[in-house]
Amino acid sequence: MAKQRTFIMAKPDAVQRNLIGEIMQRFERKGFHLIGAKLMNVPRELAEEHYAEHKEKPFFGELVDFITSGAVFAMVWEGENVIATARNMMGKTNPAEAAPGTIRGDFGISMGMNIIHGSDAPETAEREIALWFKEDELHEYEKTINKWI
Ligand code: ADP
Ligand code: MG
Repeated sequence: MAKQRTFIMAKPDAVQRNLIGEIMQRFERKGFHLIGAKLMNVPRELAEEHYAEHKEKPFFGELVDFITSGAVFAMVWEGENVIATARNMMGKTNPAEAAPGTIRGDFGISMGMNIIHGSDAPETAEREIALWFKEDELHEYEKTINKWI
């Protein structure tokens, strides 16, 4: 399996509830490699573009309102099969159905406030990384300890 990159975002509820460190730690301990991260307030146009596939859904307005309601923590993680593995670590979209041990299963409250976003496929990951990060905000570096990860 080749190395992949994925876009992960701690949503405003995660930032408000001091869960940024918890989320990052799970990805670090799983052996993924952080190559970009930033705390930011999301312009409405960016939120609408990010969630464009849901434009016609009844919850779209509420979703964009929520994502723009407070700071988010945007990240790019790299590793083998990271796209699908991150989705597994996040758990199902609805926190009520997400398994214990997953991020949404452990911390999510509702469909709206479900803590975290993660790209769902290679094409989506590529699109989302380009949408949220400039090339010079992504950093390649070697780990000199734990070289096997
Ligand atoms: P995921 O984030 O797991 O990829 P979706 O792409 O289906 O899920 O939806 C994007 C986001 O929209 C979800 O994370 C959730 O916050 C919100 N959402 C999805 N379905 C609903 C719904 N029925 N009601 C309210 N919010 C929803
Ligand atoms: Mg999705």
